[in-house]
Parts: sequence; structure tokens; C-alpha cells
Amino acid sequence: MAEEKTIAFDVESIREQFPTLSQQVYGKDLVYLDNGATSQKPKVVIDAIGHYYTLENSNIHRGVHFLSQQATEHYEHARKVIQQYINAPLEEEVLFTSGTTAGINLVAFSYGELLSEGDEIIISAMEHHSNIVPWQILCERKGCILKVIPMNEHGELMMDAYSNLLSHRTKLVAVTHISNTLGTINPVKEITRMAHEQGAVVLIDGAQSIQHMTVDVQELDCDFYAFSGHKVFGPTGVGILYGKKAILDKMPPYQGGGDMIEKVTFEKTTYNGLPHKFEAGTPNISGGIGLGVAFEFLSGLDMDEVEHYEKELATYAEKELLKLDGMRLIGTAKEKTSVVSFIVEGLHPFDIGTLLDKQGIAVRTGHHCTQPVMDFFKIPGTVRASFAFYNTMAEVDILVKGVERSINMLR
Ligand SMILES: *Cc1c(COP(=O)(O)O)cnc(C)c1O
Repeated sequence: MAEEKTIAFDVESIREQFPTLSQQVYGKDLVYLDNGATSQKPKVVIDAIGHYYTLENSNIHRGVHFLSQQATEHYEHARKVIQQYINAPLEEEVLFTSGTTAGINLVAFSYGELLSEGDEIIISAMEHHSNIVPWQILCERKGCILKVIPMNEHGELMMDAYSNLLSHRTKLVAVTHISNTLGTINPVKEITRMAHEQGAVVLIDGAQSIQHMTVDVQELDCDFYAFSGHKVFGPTGVGILYGKKAILDKMPPYQGGGDMIEKVTFEKTTYNGLPHKFEAGTPNISGGIGLGVAFEFLSGLDMDEVEHYEKELATYAEKELLKLDGMRLIGTAKEKTSVVSFIVEGLHPFDIGTLLDKQGIAVRTGHHCTQPVMDFFKIPGTVRASFAFYNTMAEVDILVKGVERSINMLR
């Protein structure tokens, strides 16, 4: 049966675990294709947050009492689950942050303290604003120089140009694993290897990769890997920064406050060890616990199967969309996944997005926090459908029909 061939795993039983998905908007079944902006949450994650506030609420790392010890245990258990999931060698290399943006800013500020005037930082042409602006601020502060790996018209990084940018002056390379706008999967392992040859450290923006494929930080050999909880089926306001211990140990604290200290006097304060040195103040406790549960949920899936299935969804969507008049795909890299960005000749992406919304189809329109990518393609924005493993081929059909209907209404 054709149907069984294309559906790699039991998507219906997965969907049942995501309550948000089984609702109607404007009287139509919701088709949620905005996973690049944020993912939906499985019931186990929602329940874990409710459970924490119902029965466990207390502060962590400082209580003598039962609730505090229990919450601390659950929060630290989450760190362990995530450590294992990304195959980080040590628990203390897994730092809780409030998201990708916070993780990148932490590195830009703290590792940035170790840089000097004339040092060079390399990013790429397809970075999210949160992997551009922190480096610009650092360059202003320290007199460092920002270099950008260019891309070709398919949205692939030009590796020869990257090689030419690298030199002994390069101190840090920060690139996205998967582009949130183009879906390009960058060769981050190779990028890391080349940077290391020059003695530079590497930060990978994993905001769009960890939910779509197996990520092993030791295999990638990256020095930092940052991602957001909310895009990986966990809560908002929590994220992870993985960093190699030897490097984190050399870095000064980012923020000062409770938890990050060992001893405080007015004359001199000594800092706590990892990971607490970088976790000042009361964290997002329920978020951390919920994120751990999200990773336990993910551990129950075969990520190779997920990757394969999502690629099938995206490939099918592209093939069907291209049958429509005036359709232009933005982002046609050979190595790409789960994101389909497009524009339709003569029509504004926002108008298409608005009409899709009225048909129950959630997409994102605009520049997707990547204005330089829009400038490169000389377009104001795109319509972006971004998939997760709970999306179906039937939803792709609804999207394509919806786009066709929207085009007809607007023309
Ligand atoms: C979403 C995203 C970010 C920023 O994540 P926040 O959760 O907003 O901190 C950074 N990089 C990429 C590639 C993203 O998709």
C-alpha cells in the first residue's frame, strides 16, 4: 500500500499526544506548520509543568526542606537527561539558559572577554539575528572584526570562501546547524574541523537542528552548542548551552548573583564551579523540568526515522507547490530539511499567510529574523511552512490547496 510506504512511523498515535493539534480554528481543522517558530508540546511536558506547580513548587539548590530537595533532584535529573541526549561528556558542561539567544549572548559576552582588538569572528550569511547581533556588540566592545561566510543562490555556504576567511587571526566561528529560513543543513562538522586547525573555537546554533536529527556534540567536536527548549517540544523561557569544560573554566562569569557564588564578602567574591558559575539567580525551574521530560519523550523516538519522515514531508510539499503558477522556492540546497520557504510572483507573502490563516493553516511570513537572507535574495520576505514529525502528508495537501486558493483570490 502506497500509504504505508510513505508513513515511516505511526504519526497518528504521535499526534494524539499533542493536545494543541486536535482543535479547530475558524471552524477548520488546525494545520500547524509553524514549527520553526515554536513547536507544540506533548501532554507529558504539559503535565510535568502542572505537576511541579501543583505539588512541588519551591526554590532549588538551597532548601533544607523536602519540596526543595525534590525539585532540585528533578531539575538536575533534567540536566542529566539532556547531557545523555546530546552525548556531552560531563553534566556540568550542560548549562541552563533562557534559550538560544541567551546562550549565544553568554558566549559573546564571556568568551568575548578573552578576545582582543583585531581578533576575527566568522559567522555566515544565513544566520538568525540572534547569531549576528551579539557578535556585532562584541566587536564594538572589543575592537574585533566580523567576517561573513557567503552563500550561493541555492542557500549553501561557500566552503572555499570560508577556507579563505580562516587564518590565525580567527578566534571564533559561529554558524547555524540548520537555517531557519532556508532549511539548509550546514556541514558543521567540517566547519568545526577547519576552524580548529586555526585554533579557533566554534559555536553551533542548534535552534533548528536538535528537534530534527541526532545531535552528538562529541562527534561534531564543537566547543559550544546552543538551543531553545520551546522549539524542541519543551517549554518557553528555557534553553541549553553546551560548552566544553576546559573552555568554560577559562571564561569569566556572565551575570552575578545568587547560586553562581562560592563565598561573598564586600572585599572579594569567589565563584561557584560549573555549571552554577553561569547560572545566576533562580532559574526557570518548571521549564527545566519540562525540558527534561521533552527529551525523555524524544528519546522514545527513532531520530533517524524522524529525519527521514520530515524530509519526505518537505520534499513532497516542494514538489506539489512547484506545480503552482509563479511559485519560487527560496532555499534549494542539496542538503536541506523540514523548512519550505517560498514566494509567489506578484503577491506579498503576508497576504498569502493571512489567507492561509483563515483556512486554518498556520505558517509564518516575513523575514524570519534573517533580514540579510532577504536582502541576498532581494525579496521582502517569504511564506514559510516548517514541519515537525507530527505533521502529515494530508496536511501538506491542505497547504498546497490552500496556497492555490489564496493565489486565485489574490490574482
Ligand atoms: C529561533 C532561532 C534562534 C533564537 O531562538 P530564541 O528561542 O528566540 O532564543 C536562533 N537561531 C535560530 C536558527 C533560530 O531558529
